[in-house]
Amino acid sequence: MKRAVGMLLAVAAGLGGAVAEAQPGPTRADQIRAHKIEARRIAGADFTGALARLCTVPDTMMPRAAPAGGPAIPDRASWYAEPYKVFDDLYWVGTKVHSAWALTTRDGIILIDTVYNYAAETAIVGGLKKLGLDPASVKYVVISHGHGDHDEGARLFQERYGAHVVMSAEDWELVAGQTGMPGGQPKRDVVAKDGDRVTLGGAEVRLVQTPGHTLGTLSMVFTVHDKGRPIAVAYSGGTAFNFPPSKVRFDSYIASQRRLARAAAEAGATVLLSNHSEFDRAYDLARVSQLPRAPGEPSPFVIGADAVGRYFAVTAACAESAKLETGVP
Ligand SMILES: [Zn+2]
Repeated sequence: MKRAVGMLLAVAAGLGGAVAEAQPGPTRADQIRAHKIEARRIAGADFTGALARLCTVPDTMMPRAAPAGGPAIPDRASWYAEPYKVFDDLYWVGTKVHSAWALTTRDGIILIDTVYNYAAETAIVGGLKKLGLDPASVKYVVISHGHGDHDEGARLFQERYGAHVVMSAEDWELVAGQTGMPGGQPKRDVVAKDGDRVTLGGAEVRLVQTPGHTLGTLSMVFTVHDKGRPIAVAYSGGTAFNFPPSKVRFDSYIASQRRLARAAAEAGATVLLSNHSEFDRAYDLARVSQLPRAPGEPSPFVIGADAVGRYFAVTAACAESAKLETGVP
């Protein structure tokens, strides 16, 4: 009896082996599942905002376009936030949802991204003044990409203060096609490409073109100072998948995450910034960074080089998943 069972098992094992060899690879569903598990494993307890937005379809793909008849202007109480100094030379002048950042130099300010037109005057102009900075000293406005939540404030700084607006060629095109843009379209000015540097008063913002979210999204690497100590920052310029889905577009997005991760690692970036608090918790961290710190304790914005690298691995894994899930050619 024992021998018979042994033989049966041997036959079964043999059959199993033959069947396994003939089986096709993992199904699409298996692969999607694997990418999502991988994204969650890499994220650990971090980056829940990116996971929730990017790894969940169909929410991921929901268009965020303005409704017909123009975008509704939300009630001030729903977006207004106090401005904060977060490093020696970096100031957060955003809203509860969207961020704008002022990098101060001895020759003026480099403003990184603006917010919607409805908030730009209050959040950025008012915010800078409240922090003791002069909005007229903004020399450059670097726009990560040509969507309203980041570029509508650009024209104000260009017109009123004579600031130079920096954008990629692709996103200048995108902006040129937006008729009726609240706040007005910025006039085509500095056309930036990958590897360009915006320099002012000893500071330097290195541009890393990261196509995906838009065709010309600009990400950045720059240095800030914390109680005199230099800290490298990786700034992710575009995140969500609200673009016309295609395999080519997702592959471009994924390649961009890897390139930016490499640029961040080369610079030794220990801070990850974005233009949505959903992804970098800027609104929370700006307030938390006002709390007292123990001697030698780093800024709460400092998450470490490993975590910065993991962030881009998470966005890439979610993009792999969404590429399969949308089933686009
Ligand atoms: Zn966008």
